[in-house]
Amino acid sequence: MKKHNFYAGPSIMSQFTIEETAKAVHNFADMGLSILEISHRSKQFQAVMDETVALFKELLEIPEGYSVLFLGGGASLQFAMVPMNMLSKKAAYLDTGVWASKAIKEAKLFGDVDIVASSKDKNYTYIPKDFVVPADVDYFHYTSNNTIYGTELRKDPEVGARLIADMSSDIFSRPVDISKYDLIYGGAQKNLAPSGVTFVIVKDDALGHVDRPIPTMLDYRTHVKKGSMFNTPPVLPIFSALQTLKYYKQLGGIREIEKMDIAKAETLYNAIDGSKMFVATVPNHEDRSIMNVCFVMKPEYKELEKEFIDFATEKGMVGIKGHRDVGGFRASLYNALPMESVNALVAAMKEFEAKH
Ligand code: PMP
Repeated sequence: MKKHNFYAGPSIMSQFTIEETAKAVHNFADMGLSILEISHRSKQFQAVMDETVALFKELLEIPEGYSVLFLGGGASLQFAMVPMNMLSKKAAYLDTGVWASKAIKEAKLFGDVDIVASSKDKNYTYIPKDFVVPADVDYFHYTSNNTIYGTELRKDPEVGARLIADMSSDIFSRPVDISKYDLIYGGAQKNLAPSGVTFVIVKDDALGHVDRPIPTMLDYRTHVKKGSMFNTPPVLPIFSALQTLKYYKQLGGIREIEKMDIAKAETLYNAIDGSKMFVATVPNHEDRSIMNVCFVMKPEYKELEKEFIDFATEKGMVGIKGHRDVGGFRASLYNALPMESVNALVAAMKEFEAKH
């Protein structure tokens, strides 16, 4: 029986994606060859790349004037590529956790960084609200979903600056007004594909405004010009991404997915809030992530945390141990996770509570 998979990433993938990928590993596009052993320049793979870009644009309703790229290096390389390509003098960053801090560290290599607000004082358990972005910055960067702490900014921020976001762990979980952004990036290994590919949505006219020399592979314009085929792209993860996008379209698109994601998150948060034993680590409901639900045991039950992990593991649940920076539990409810798995976790929590 398949496990209930709550891993934070790499994470659960749709069964459709896994099955279609497995088929292509054996025989891709009726070529009599595996997708693992063909040229990325073949017309069959070019068709995959073209369809992936087209469907990605369709589902996210990306307007004219933007390119969608599929690159290597993970979201972590984007922490450096963004400032290298976009930061002339000064950029503003919102510090909402480890990933945001890593992006800040890289940006400092290329110019001044104004950290407009930070939630570090409370171990990143909330989203700072009343920050001001100075008018003279090249851009404002934020992390829309903080995978480790379970906080999320689910509204596109209104700031008077060019907007850049790391959407690694919540892309395709809500409609995004892309026209507000100059660039959005993310590692694919949560809501899109196996690890190995990074998506970048970039406004074409946002590029080419910095004076520094940029190495060819790190220059977005190289990849825009060559349709992500300047060098050998991550062929298999891109193929898998296409299967996930097809599956999302079948489900009815992002608005339908968002409804399912909200229903799953509400089910789990309600169970946590209504329990005598568990407590959510993010108190403000508005700041709670619908992708990563973080919770701990109340102080009087603290010594039972390990026992609960073992209890849930016995019932076929994997990946609920919290990140070491937060402790307790984290249940990641990515798009491919069925409601049935959330119900199983809630039932396990109730049963455990009744036992104690
Ligand atoms: N940003 C966020 C929000 C993440 O969750 C992660 C990975 N979990 C990263 C960046 C880093 O991604 P990668 O491992 O693809 O470099």
